[in-house]
Amino acid sequence: MNISGVEQGPGFVGIRFCQECNNMLYPREDKENRVLLYACRNCDYKQLAQNNCIYVNKIMHEVDEITNIVADVIGDPTLPRSEDHPCPKCKHREAVFFQAESRRADDEMKLYYVCTNTNCSHRWTE
Ligand SMILES: [Zn+2]
Ligand SMILES: [Zn+2]
Repeated sequence: MNISGVEQGPGFVGIRFCQECNNMLYPREDKENRVLLYACRNCDYKQLAQNNCIYVNKIMHEVDEITNIVADVIGDPTLPRSEDHPCPKCKHREAVFFQAESRRADDEMKLYYVCTNTNCSHRWTE
């Protein structure tokens, strides 16, 4: 009998089962170690995720978080200001700058500049 094509169709990709009790595993973030796990809801079994699609989504989310803090940054008197980095958008002279630590190991610490013109609030990096 010809059974080719029956094994591992695209629908099977990404579904994992517990090696202990055979229940479905669910993705779960390990916040301490910043890794994605697949965990069983029925027992304590967990395994490291092999593909990191969900982790990539998380990085995209962090970019949104930076946008959200921009409004607070302009009004923060403790942050350093620079007049050497005019805004590329509105040519305003003064910018607040701060360093943001990326969670990606291959990414250097970047300096972020925020235009202090509240009508503009443009944000850029070097
Ligand atoms: Zn289990
Ligand atoms: Zn500007």
